[in-house]
Amino acid sequence: EYRSGSQIREDFLRFFETKGHRRVHSSSLVPANDPTLLFTNAGMNQFKDVFLGAEKREYSRAASSQKCVRAGGKHNDLENVGFTRRHHTFFEMLGNFSFGDYFKKDAIAYAWELLTSPQWFGIDKAKLYVTIFEGDAAVPRDTEAYQFWLDVGVPAERIFALGAADNFWAMGDTGPCGPCSEIYYDLGIAASETGEDVPFPKDEQRYVEIWNLVFMQFDRSSDGVLTPLPKPSIDTGMGLERVSAVLQGVLSNFETDLFTPLIMRAEQLTGHKVEPEHEVDDRSRASLRIIADHARAATFLISDGVHPQNEGRGYVLRKILRRGIRHGRLLGQEKPFMHEMVFAVRDEMGAAYPELKESADRVAKVVLAEEQQFARTLELGLRQMNEETLRSGALAFRLYETFGMPLDFMVDAARDAGIEFDMTGFDAAKEEEQQRARASWKGGSQKSAAPVYRELPKTEFEGYLALRVDGARI
Ligand code: ATP
Ligand code: MG
Ligand code: MG
Ligand code: MG
Repeated sequence: EYRSGSQIREDFLRFFETKGHRRVHSSSLVPANDPTLLFTNAGMNQFKDVFLGAEKREYSRAASSQKCVRAGGKHNDLENVGFTRRHHTFFEMLGNFSFGDYFKKDAIAYAWELLTSPQWFGIDKAKLYVTIFEGDAAVPRDTEAYQFWLDVGVPAERIFALGAADNFWAMGDTGPCGPCSEIYYDLGIAASETGEDVPFPKDEQRYVEIWNLVFMQFDRSSDGVLTPLPKPSIDTGMGLERVSAVLQGVLSNFETDLFTPLIMRAEQLTGHKVEPEHEVDDRSRASLRIIADHARAATFLISDGVHPQNEGRGYVLRKILRRGIRHGRLLGQEKPFMHEMVFAVRDEMGAAYPELKESADRVAKVVLAEEQQFARTLELGLRQMNEETLRSGALAFRLYETFGMPLDFMVDAARDAGIEFDMTGFDAAKEEEQQRARASWKGGSQKSAAPVYRELPKTEFEGYLALRVDGARI
């Protein structure tokens, strides 16, 4: 039977309510009192101090559907979006949490019940794989989790031990962390170029990670030392878009009902329709997905108080917005259209996130202003752009720096004009500028900025990635 994304979100929360969890509303995308974190990137963020024992709540079990953005900082999926089936900049993370209450055994049993019980999600057990942490110098192999997976009935040959990159979770460079177990779903398609089966976990197209169970045991300090937490806890995260794709029987998050209305709206607004039978139209399809994704991210970020700017959080928002606009242009839409996407996002998600109903008009105004400003930027830049600037990387870099002229605009224009763009000269000029910026940084006043902002260059417009569409693996 068909379940909408909204029903799946609700079923998840209800399941954990029946297991004694308190339903907690998503926190803002702008982390409260945490300058080390660019954006909220996981359900556990709002409970960080509870895990550390520094804050008490009246409940020891919670469940939430958390707004997350992974477009900068430690977890950055910006460049994946549109090119994988499963990554977004903005997504909803479903999570259940235990604050020193239950631990591994129950967390594993709950997850397995929700996913496989016919009364709940009813996923075919033969399609599921799990992983455990293989251990390293600091933390031993997770033989406990291995045993608990066997206990719920997962066959040994479907349990794989992986290293820290996949199976040790940390919110950031410091803070709560621990070994984890990830649950994967077998989409059943061999995506290797030869069409051969590639065994789990190597084939990333075929096996999609849906849920991560983190066994929160340590607090990592800035010098890397792991201190055991007062009480071991549980933090889990399951992408709503991914589990919806599984339950709706589609291969891509972008084919779920969470995205199809937004993609249709993007088609209307850009006047570009991709016919399903046009397999070769991958470039356009990626652009529509990027517009849908970035519209969600921008809408929620602005709604939560972020404003387009040239640094910090606002800079990432600006990059997301301009990237969306750029993809509209690739589809032939040169007029402002992203602000209209805001209302489509509100219509789809306002029931689950009522704050959108309040903020949509304001958000759309901010987006429109950014669209207008970017159009002026492009116009100025385009006027300066000529054969000479395209032939000289140093001059092209000036345009890029001074007018925010996107690199791929210039590369495209050069290609159209049959000129070879001077990428070597461009890179050299950029490197030189970065050296200068680094040198001035050391003694500069920006020293007091939060660490995460320091990585962000002031003007960096190459997130456009149009050129990468050729490498799309969709
Ligand atoms: P992946 O390896 O696929 O990038 P991850 O291991 O980085 O995922 P976690 O940090 O474990 O992801 O987050 C918990 C869950 O959130 C994942 O299992 C996945 O379902 C979902 N998720 C993570 N990143 C994204 C994203 N960019 N877009 C959509 N869902 C995501
Ligand atoms: Mg990831
Ligand atoms: Mg992973
Ligand atoms: Mg994971």
